[in-house]
Amino acid sequence: MSKPSRREFIKSSLLMAGAVAFSGSFLKPIKVFAKAAEKEIPLPPGEKKLDENDAVAKALGFHHNVKDIDYTRYPQRKKPEAKDQFCKNCALYSAKNEGWGKCQMLANGVVSAQGWCGSWNKKA
Ligand code: SF4
Repeated sequence: MSKPSRREFIKSSLLMAGAVAFSGSFLKPIKVFAKAAEKEIPLPPGEKKLDENDAVAKALGFHHNVKDIDYTRYPQRKKPEAKDQFCKNCALYSAKNEGWGKCQMLANGVVSAQGWCGSWNKKA
């Protein structure tokens, strides 16, 4: 195999730099979108966010974000077939707005639509 010429080396370096720059600008809108999705939706007027340290919430293993679930206690939530389980599609959830709702089990505040607990039950 022949040694690449200086011209070929510079050409491939420029192509590589262009590809890196392009991928950075391509990914930027995706990162911005992901950040917006993470942004918390304001609480419904007159409602307070349920404290995860609430006795019933703790007993049920409730968390506003499924990433915080104790998967050693609730391994079933980690199974692929459970990936779409959230408060928003639980039978005990009543939406107050697009991000928050009331849970029939948890009276001391609203729960996140993205939350989960061990009493999750599929909405009919
Ligand atoms: S019972 Fe349903 S709505 Fe209530 S916290 Fe658990 S998963 Fe969410």
